[in-house]
Amino acid sequence: MNYISTRDNSIKVSAASAIATGISAEGGLFVPESVPTLTKEDFAALCKMDYPARASFVLGKFLGDFTAKEVEYCTNGAYVGTFDNNNPAPLYNLYGDVQILELWHGPTCAFKDLALQILPFLLTTSASKVSGGKKTVILVATSGDTGKAALEGFKDVEGTEIMVFYPSDGVSPMQKLQMDTQEGKNVYVYAIKGNFDDAQSGVKRIFTDPEISNKLKENNMLFSSANSINWGRLAPQIVYYVSSYCDLLNAGKNPENGFNVAVPTGNFGNILAAYYAKLMGVPVAKLICASNANKVLTDFLETGVYDRNRSFYTTISPSMDILISSNLERMLFEISGRDDKKTSEWQKALKEEGKYQVDADVKAKLDDLFFGGFCDDEKTKKTIKEVYDKYGYLCDTHTAVAIAVYEDYKAKTGDERPVVIASTASPYKFAASVLEALGETASNDEFETVEQLSTLTKTTPPAPIKALRGKKVRFNNICEPETMDNAVLGYLNIK
Ligand SMILES: *Cc1c(COP(=O)(O)O)cnc(C)c1O
Repeated sequence: MNYISTRDNSIKVSAASAIATGISAEGGLFVPESVPTLTKEDFAALCKMDYPARASFVLGKFLGDFTAKEVEYCTNGAYVGTFDNNNPAPLYNLYGDVQILELWHGPTCAFKDLALQILPFLLTTSASKVSGGKKTVILVATSGDTGKAALEGFKDVEGTEIMVFYPSDGVSPMQKLQMDTQEGKNVYVYAIKGNFDDAQSGVKRIFTDPEISNKLKENNMLFSSANSINWGRLAPQIVYYVSSYCDLLNAGKNPENGFNVAVPTGNFGNILAAYYAKLMGVPVAKLICASNANKVLTDFLETGVYDRNRSFYTTISPSMDILISSNLERMLFEISGRDDKKTSEWQKALKEEGKYQVDADVKAKLDDLFFGGFCDDEKTKKTIKEVYDKYGYLCDTHTAVAIAVYEDYKAKTGDERPVVIASTASPYKFAASVLEALGETASNDEFETVEQLSTLTKTTPPAPIKALRGKKVRFNNICEPETMDNAVLGYLNIK
């Protein structure tokens, strides 16, 4: 199983190499040469396994140059004893055939943990195969949750350094505090003046700058990415869609005509993982792509024109405040029949004009696979309240976006098939917005707000959130997006 680049499919590298480098040198993203499929017998076997074993089974198919022992080392390290639940991705039955896939039982209370608990294992194992003893320098651009999850995953991991860049005004107070108080001797955190797209473009620029890469090489270092541009981030996310199908089967709900999946989307990574699960043979029917007011994806799915030239909104679901959804590139590569020329053209147009239009046949395939919808802040709050009042279930702002768009989809189409809605964060990560949605006034103090929410809803805040109280702030650096490269070289002590 090798990996090819979306912008040049003659480039072929091993899984270890794809994960160790994160992105192809010409800027393309790595995808598996062919997508492995699961048989009926495979699913029957998977149904009997626990989550780490399911992960080993599925990931083993993607990690061609890993031994079974290495895969198991990675999945056990990531998923045994690290989540507050035996199953790191349990289903919660909201009502009828509507299941909430809770992906926030990990150490940083967002779904990013499912991938970032395992990525350090995948990456160090990969590096030991292909990087010749070089130190791996992880650069991360974050809209809030990836940064903390990556810091937790990589802190004090031998042979790695990690630097995180987050938009100074684009993360929730709890997200900011989580990152600024990060412990570990190989970690560094920067706020940048700009939004997530500025941070992500800056990181991509540094990755693909040959001069900087050479400087690193001279110092026996190598860049890699913990963003979902790295295949090592995406593959572990496929696992929980496979796992949720097994859980549906185990619960006696055999979705004969398939089941829908609704995902609150930003960088298009999570929903892309659901698409790959479908390609593997999980009977996913419609992929429901839910956006907040930054509805570039909703418009794209409706018109076939991706246009990032628009106002950027700061919303109460900040982890989805994104106008350049990187992983759409993989999707377009796949559904254009793996056309690297076209994929490159679209990405070039996006970079130069901020916009591109896909062909009619690609558009038709998108129509078939996806439903796109969006939900603004007001409706997000209304949904949080309705879901709480009706079902006694407390959801976060991102999950609420997905629930609202799913309900719109159902009303519009009458499609009553079972659905799995990805719940991407604990409500306590966005306590003030959630509390206000329930009609209360939040305190100025984030931890008071957590207490208020807990008292009101008689739910328990996750331990990692409570543990933040009183932690020492270690980082309060701020830089311009243009000077990110200096920040990186400075931290690494390279001239
Ligand atoms: C990252 C994130 C998203 C968006 O996920 P993508 O894979 O970028 O589409 C949604 N919700 C939360 C809470 C997140 O942290």
